Amino acid sequence: MWTSILAQVAGDGPYLLANGRLLTDVSAAPRSAEMLVSADGMIERIGEGLTVPQGARRVDLAGALVVPGFVDAHQHLDKTGVLKFAPNPSGTLQGAREAFALYARNAPPEDVARRAERTMARCLARGTTAIRSHVNVDKDAGFRGLDALAALRESWADRMRLQLVAFMTPHPNQDLEWLASNVGAAASRADAVGGTPAVAEDPERYLDLIFEAAVRHSLPVDLHLDEHLDAARPLFDAVFERVRRYGMQGRTVLGHCSVLSALPRPEFERIRDGMLELDIGAITLPAANLYLQGRSHDVLPPRGLTRVAELVRSGVPLATASDNIQDPFVPTGSGDMLEMGRWTLLAGHLHADDLASVLPMITDIPARLMGLEGYGIREGARADLVVCDCEDATDLIAGGPDHRLVLAKGKRVGIH
Ligand SMILES: [Zn+2]
Repeated sequence: MWTSILAQVAGDGPYLLANGRLLTDVSAAPRSAEMLVSADGMIERIGEGLTVPQGARRVDLAGALVVPGFVDAHQHLDKTGVLKFAPNPSGTLQGAREAFALYARNAPPEDVARRAERTMARCLARGTTAIRSHVNVDKDAGFRGLDALAALRESWADRMRLQLVAFMTPHPNQDLEWLASNVGAAASRADAVGGTPAVAEDPERYLDLIFEAAVRHSLPVDLHLDEHLDAARPLFDAVFERVRRYGMQGRTVLGHCSVLSALPRPEFERIRDGMLELDIGAITLPAANLYLQGRSHDVLPPRGLTRVAELVRSGVPLATASDNIQDPFVPTGSGDMLEMGRWTLLAGHLHADDLASVLPMITDIPARLMGLEGYGIREGARADLVVCDCEDATDLIAGGPDHRLVLAKGKRVGIH
C-alpha cells in the first residue's frame, strides 16, 4: 500500500489527494475528504467527493493520515553539527557558550552553510517544513552566520520556510557598545530580533537595545528568557515592562522560561497572568534543559524545563522545539519533531490523555508564534504536508508512523 502511494506522488503537476484522513484541525479528529493541490504547490480545494479536474492526477491515499508540516520554532543552525570541533567537557550552558564562541572566531562561512544544510535536510525528511533559527551575532561570529543562513533562506524557500533571529549574543566582559552599534545591521538581515538577557551584564539596557531595534525594523522579538533555575533573578517583569512600552503585545516570544519551575506558585501565577494579558508566547526546549540544567545538584537534579503542564492548561500558547542539534549545547538530535513532542510530554509531566494536545505544540502554535502565513490544511495554504500510516494525533505522538511521506509546497521531499 505504502509503495503505491509513494509512486503516485512522485510526479509534478496538479493532483487530487483522495481517500486521505485530513487533520484540517490539529486539535480535532481527522476528517475524510479530498484535497486538490495546484501545480504551484498550494491547497486549492478541500471537500468531500471532489472530482479530478482535467489535467490533474488522482492519488489514492488509502486511508493515510495527513497532517500539516511540522514547525520547529527554535533552532540554532549556525551551531548544528559543531560538536566535534567544539567539545563541552563540563556539560553546562556556560561551557557550551564558551566552546562555540572559540570555534566561531575562525569558522569559515561555507562551514556554517554545509552543517546547516545537512540538518535542514534531515529535518525536512522527517516532516519539518518551517524552522526559526537563532543566529549568533557578536564579536566572535560577526555576521558570518547570518549571511550564510540568509543565503539558505533564499535557496531553500520552496522546501523549507526559514526565519532568522538576530541573536545579539552577550558574553562575560561583553562590549555592549559593539552590540548596540551592530544590532541595526543584524536586524536588517533577520526576521526577528533576539538575545539572552540573563547573561547580559546590564540586562535593562540590553533589553532596551533589542526592543528598540525590533520596533525600528518592524520585527518581532524572540528572547531566550531565564534559561536557568535561580529564583532570585527572573527577568519577566523587565520584559513585560518593555512589551507594554514598545507596544509589542502579540509580537514577543520567550524561549525556555526555565526559572518558572523554580519560583513559588503564586509568583509563577502572577507571571503567567502577565503572559496571558500581553499575549506572549512561550517555547519549551526539553533537550537543552534536560542536558544542561541542574548539573550542580548532587541529589535529585531538576528537569530544567518550564512549568509545561500548567502553561498548557492556562492557555498560554506553548510550542516545543529542538533548540540545538548535535553541538556543545545538546550532543544528540535527529531533527524529528515527534521525538521532541514525546520528550515534552514525559519531561513536562503531561498526562496520557494529553498525547493529542502535543500535536498543536509542533504545528499550529509555533506557526502562529512565527507569524507564518498560509499554514495548515486549508484552502489557500501551502501544501506542506506529512502523510503517514497513523490512526490519529494520539497515535502519531505516542509511537509515530512506520512510514511517512513529506510534501513541501506540493513536491515530494522525503520518504521514510
Ligand atoms: Zn536556543
